[in-house]
Amino acid sequence: MAYAVASLMQWITCAEEQFQSHLAELNALDAAIGDGDHGSNLARGFAKVREKLQANPPETPASLFKLVGMTLISTVGGASGPLYGSFFLEAGKIAGEQKELDNATLARCLQAGLVGIQRLGKAEAGDKTMIDALEPAIRALTNEADMGVATQKAREGRDATIPLIARKGRASYLGERAIGHADPGATSACLLLNCLAGACPT
Ligand code: ADP
Ligand code: MG
Ligand code: MG
Repeated sequence: MAYAVASLMQWITCAEEQFQSHLAELNALDAAIGDGDHGSNLARGFAKVREKLQANPPETPASLFKLVGMTLISTVGGASGPLYGSFFLEAGKIAGEQKELDNATLARCLQAGLVGIQRLGKAEAGDKTMIDALEPAIRALTNEADMGVATQKAREGRDATIPLIARKGRASYLGERAIGHADPGATSACLLLNCLAGACPT
């Protein structure tokens, strides 16, 4: 089983649909502990991604990831644009010229993406950010090669942000008032990983 560019396009197309359909929910989460735009930011960024993919279908996983990363960085004003953008740019570097990615290579791409987010944002697990969902999920994927386990870990990581005080991003300005709310970025990271789990390798 391997992920050719067509499978990875399914991933990104699903993400665009999910961010559109969860736009209000993600904005509401962000309104509670940020500025209320997380859903709008991602919906706008991924709509632009879809436009560019239709105009210029990529031929390799690396060129797909690069297009997604560059587009998110250039169209999303919020913190999440450069962060998710770095994730895809770094993943693309690992994909190289390969036509398809086996499970282990895909896991290495995601791990490199995670490192890229952390290099930029300096957040660690427990800081109440997207890292709280991504880190345990990607660790599970690397160690157990099981997408179902990975998405379960992402959900647990998101839920675990609820009682936390935020140490990074806008929510960190709220101090204890952030307690009781799930982090919007951890929530969007769950949607992103669910879509990857739904993409069919061939
Ligand atoms: P903004 O805060 O600029 O409006 P968004 O609302 O789109 O950007 O994204 C907010 C999300 O970004 C947060 O919920 C959090 O998950 C994530 N985030 C913010 N800062 C960081 C960081 N330094 N590292 C990792 N993730 C971060
Ligand atoms: Mg915001
Ligand atoms: Mg904003």
